[in-house]
Amino acid sequence: MDGVSVKKYVNSLFNSASYLIWHKGNEQCIVVDCGDTEQLIEDIKDGELVPVAILLTHVHFDHIYGVNEMLLAFPDVKIYTNEWGHKALMSDKLNLSRYHGSPFVVADEQAIVDIVENEEVIEVAGMNIHTLYTPGHNPSCITYYTDDMVFTGDAYIPDTPVVTCLPHGNRQEAERSLAAITPLMQGRRVMPGHDVK
Ligand SMILES: [Zn+2]
Repeated sequence: MDGVSVKKYVNSLFNSASYLIWHKGNEQCIVVDCGDTEQLIEDIKDGELVPVAILLTHVHFDHIYGVNEMLLAFPDVKIYTNEWGHKALMSDKLNLSRYHGSPFVVADEQAIVDIVENEEVIEVAGMNIHTLYTPGHNPSCITYYTDDMVFTGDAYIPDTPVVTCLPHGNRQEAERSLAAITPLMQGRRVMPGHDVK
């Protein structure tokens, strides 16, 4: 997509990756997953951008722990996940934060938007973002893609087998999801859920 910029952030927890996306000429921006927020919020403010959506690739703790800081700074931002993800955003047990010693639930449940269909198109910040359910690593896994980028979260990380041994993981589903993601990667930049060297 012409004029779309992306900045990647590697978070302190497990090297999870977040992304800031904005379309030149549009003051709105999108965040994909949300860990450390200090630099992210500084960049958004410096760029005089308005974040309208946080797209969650899934709701494991290392991909969501900055959401409440974002809500504090930008109370109107919406958080996108599926119905299972919605439940897990409100449960420190389901999002696994309980086991990291820092229980986390989303402070404002009203900010959560459920992506209810397997495939949808979200029109935000002057962009059309396609969604595809890609469970297996976790039931909340959603792959997001535009004309030239695909955000795979932990459903596909280059040179890394998909982790399915965590609670609610499913290897067969992960294989099916990978088969659905593979054609989407043709001609698109792949933005995975963890930093890979
Ligand atoms: Zn994960």
